[in-house]
Parts: sequence; C-alpha cells; structure tokens
Amino acid sequence: MNSKLLKISLFIIALFSFISLSADNNKEALELLDLNEANLSKVEKAYNQGNYRKASNKLLKYFRHRTNVAFPDFDKNNVSITKEELRWANEAFNHQFFVHTGYQPSLNYGKDINWEYWPIKDNELRWQLHRLKWWLPLAQAYKVTGKEKYAKEWTFEYLDWIKKNILKDDYDESSIKDIQKADNQYFAWRPLEVSHRLQYQIPQFMLMLPSKHFDGDFLSSFLINYHKHCEHLIKHLSTSGNHLLFEAQRLLYAAVFFPEFKDSKRWRDTAIEVLNREIKKQVYSDGLQYELDPHYHLESINIFFRALNICDANGLRNAFPQSYIDTLHKMIEATYNYSFPNYTNPMFSDFHGHHPGIDMFQKWQKVFPKDEVIRWLASNKTEGHCPKYLSKAFDKGGMYIARNGWDSLSTVMVLKAGPPAFWHCQPDNGTFEYWRKGRDFFPDSGGYVYGGDEEILKQRAWFRQTAIHNTLTLDGKNSKAGSKLISWVSDSTFTVYTIENPSYENLTHRRTVMFNHKDGSVVIKDEAIGSAEGLVEIHYALLESDPIENFKDKIVKTNFKDGNNITLFVSANKEVKMSRTEGRISYTYKHYKNRPLYNYSIQKKGNETICFITVIQPSK
Ligand code: MG
Repeated sequence: MNSKLLKISLFIIALFSFISLSADNNKEALELLDLNEANLSKVEKAYNQGNYRKASNKLLKYFRHRTNVAFPDFDKNNVSITKEELRWANEAFNHQFFVHTGYQPSLNYGKDINWEYWPIKDNELRWQLHRLKWWLPLAQAYKVTGKEKYAKEWTFEYLDWIKKNILKDDYDESSIKDIQKADNQYFAWRPLEVSHRLQYQIPQFMLMLPSKHFDGDFLSSFLINYHKHCEHLIKHLSTSGNHLLFEAQRLLYAAVFFPEFKDSKRWRDTAIEVLNREIKKQVYSDGLQYELDPHYHLESINIFFRALNICDANGLRNAFPQSYIDTLHKMIEATYNYSFPNYTNPMFSDFHGHHPGIDMFQKWQKVFPKDEVIRWLASNKTEGHCPKYLSKAFDKGGMYIARNGWDSLSTVMVLKAGPPAFWHCQPDNGTFEYWRKGRDFFPDSGGYVYGGDEEILKQRAWFRQTAIHNTLTLDGKNSKAGSKLISWVSDSTFTVYTIENPSYENLTHRRTVMFNHKDGSVVIKDEAIGSAEGLVEIHYALLESDPIENFKDKIVKTNFKDGNNITLFVSANKEVKMSRTEGRISYTYKHYKNRPLYNYSIQKKGNETICFITVIQPSK
C-alpha cells in the first residue's frame, strides 16, 4: 500500500470510529431522558428507529425552542458583559483562566491544558479552578458579540475538561488525610465544585445553544456529563453547613432546569427534603445561621431564597411550607439589624467583602412584598419605614446590636458573642464593630485566606487569633466559645447588657456594655473572673488611621479632618500597661493593610478579678 492510500485508509478508519463513538454517546445521552414525554415525541421516534444522531439533532432543536422551564436567575435575552469579564473571556483563548480574585493576574494552564497545575498551595486555588468561572464570560461574550470563536473555545475546553478529569466511581474521599497530597479527583469532583458547575452551566447552556459548535454530538456529551454531576453530587452531599445548603440548592436547580432526565424528580425531591430539613437545623430561632459568620449567613439566605424562587417560577411553590418562609424572614431581619446604615455588614469571621446591597433587598422584597422595612431598604429608604425599635439582641446566635438610629447620622455598635460554631467562625467572642456617621472605627480584621499548605494556614491563623479582636485574652491565647446573655435592658436613652464567655479554663470574661443613645458614647466594663493566673489583656484594633496617642494616660484620639472622630480611653483596677502593635485588616481575599492595634495588659494573680473600663467617646 502506498503512503497516500495508507493515509486515506487511516482517515476513513478514524472517521468511522468517530461516527461510531458519537453514535454511542448519542444513544447513552438519549437513554438518560424520559422520551415518553409528549414534547420529545420526534426524538423518541428517531431513537426507536435506531437513528441516534438524528434523535440527538431533534433533541437539540427541542432545547433550542423549549419554553416550558423558567430560570429566574438569568435572563438570556438581556445579557451584557463588563470590560473585566470580556478580558477573562479573551484570556481563556490562551488558557489563562480567571480562577480566583486573590490570585491576579490569572495563571496560565498551558497550551495543552494542565488541569492539575497548582503553583501556590492554597486549596481554594485548586478547588476553584474546577468551578470553571471563566466559562460564563465566554458565553456572555458569545451572546454579546455573536462571534463563534467564543463558543468554539468553550466547547473545546468543555470536552477537554471531561477527557482529563475522569470520575472514578470507586474513589474513596474519606481516605484522604492530607489534602495537599490528594489526587486530582479530590479537587475536580469535590461536591461543592460539582454543585458550582451544575449551577453555572445552566446559563452557559442557554447562551451557547444557538452556536454551530453546539451540535447534537456536543449536546450528548453535555447531557452525559451533567447527569454524571447530579448523580455524583446526590451520592456525596456534604454532611452539614453551608456546603450542604449550596449543594442541595444547586441540585434543585439542575433537576428543575432539566426535567427531561428520568432521574430529575428524584434529585428534586432529595434537594427539597435537604433544604427543608437543614433550615430547621442550621438556623437558630433568632434567625442566625449556625456558622455565625455574616458572609455565610447572607449566602444561606440567598440559597433558601433561590430554591424558593425557582420552585415558585415552575409551579412548585408547595415544596416549601410556611415555616420555611417565616425562617427566611427572620434571617433577613437579623441581617438588617446587624447591618450598618450604609448597607455594610460587620467583617466578623471569614469576611471577604460580601455585603447585603440594595439589590438583595429588592430581590427579597418579591417574597415579602408587605414587609415595610424590607421595602424601605429595597427603595434606598424612600418608601416604607425603618424598624420601629432601635437596639436588638439575637441571643441564640449571639449578635447584640445597640443603635441610636437607622439613618446615616446614627451610631451603631454590633457585638458578637455566640455559642461554639464551625470552621468559618473565629474565636472572637466579645468583639465588636462601632460605626458612626459613615465611619467604621473598629472594623474586624476579616478572613484573609482559607486553607492550604503550612504557609497558607499560618496566614489564616494570624487573622483568626483572639488577640487581634476587640476583646479580652489570657496570655494572648485563643479563647473558647460559649457566650451567654446575662442581662439586657434597652429603652429610649440607654442600651445596657452583660454577656459572659467561658474564655479559658478558670477564667470567665464578663463584658458589660453601656451604650448611650443620646450621643452614641459607650462605656465597656470587662471583668476577668476566676482562679486562672497570667497576662490578662484587652485589645482594640482601630481602623487605618494616624491617631494621636497618649500612652501615659491610655488615650487614643482619631484625627480625621471631617471632624467625625472618637476618643478611646482605658483604665483598670490595677496598673495597666498600654502598648501598640501592628494590626492588619483584610477587605478582600489575600490582601491586607496595616493598622494600629492597642493592647492593655495586667498581670493577674490568684482569684483576683481584673476589671477594665473602656470609654469610647465620639466627637461632638
Ligand atoms: Mg475577625
């Protein structure tokens, strides 16, 4: 055989293998669907004739014209793209993938994409690669520009990801002791990442469907992969916390968006059952989500809300009872109570810049149209009215809010002191933020980074430590949680309350706060009670500023030119030493700034009670 003939023969063999593989793929995808559905009769007919490619093309046509499924999160006819999103889409051509805001500029994953590339050992970087965030910008760019190159790149990367991230069913996740040494499946198929892909591949599917690159064969690959995701997720749902909530809500999205799968109803029923069960478990009776992290509290509201919304839009409102809606309402109520008048939240625990904006209240208003406070917040305070009370205690989850108003000229102090919580919650009981006329004078340090190798964990530990929070420590060690409200009185002139935290063995921290509604001044009495001995300290981390300091008299004054200032003064029942160390504040992941951190120290002996008095006096 001459070489020309050999090449032609090889080409014909390759072509036939491709056609045969596609036919297998098409058959496999079609068999995942309930073809008895009236809308799919043409697909079923071709399938029964054994013409799987024709059936897949009929199916593609069906999806391109389908109108019986509502997806309220995304309007495919109203798509825009920001400059930044367009850059992410364009960078994807070079396989420079927008994976994580904390690691910019985006990393390059190679001409032949290496889905296991992990140059910085932050677990988030490896996990979030597999959320495939830049695929949505590719879809937006395709929709906005109409250029086929975006759809071509998306279908290429989609198939490449499937080819190189094969799911092994017998994989035992529980055997992984050291994440840093786990193999690729652990990262690519972690249930939370699977759920991300399920949710964000819905708008990608909607936008890419018209493309010539999205043909019947690609549709089959997409459906097989998507079905595999749902089956993997339902078998590996997390056991608790926000991960489980995210996973259930996104499984629900997948099930409702693709009712054509034979397994959709099972996925849907499981997801609804999990959400109905977990809202009772994960939300305290005062409305706070049990991870006690404002970021995940907000995320949880949105999860419950999205689930309700998609069911509502698809005739499934009865999936959730009235008690679910009542709990959602309490969660929103907790949020606006501990929010400052400029729609920001305290930065407690694993904060990374997520606040409840006006747009969130506008969405929530659709479920609670008669709630005048939500209306007030949704309308940027032009309609409805503010709450008819000021201060409020959320004593199950441990958030205590003292305020003298709801408008931008008010003073608001939010103190966190709750029961033991979970990974995202920091050992910071007793800490607070103090906001006045638009300035947060004692913002929390935030979360900075999640898990990873030793170096990353060291960075995380700095931001978690009790001693950088506005609270009391013994020998600078991290405190235990378990705060209780001892008393609470709030009238038109004062809010006065006491909480106790079993911070250390044989040492209780009792903190009494006296908030004066008239001028927003605060007096704090801190008592270290018990037989423990050692260095007792209280700490105050001030916002980034250049304050006037008087170490002899223990006075710090902020020095803002606009006149919105405070004076911080500390005294004690024993000689107290004041010092300044370098504090940090992280508004976004992997970025921080320095700021002043003041420490007030006393050596405690035997059973003596150490007592500090702190005064925060705002400028007139
Ligand atoms: Mg903190």
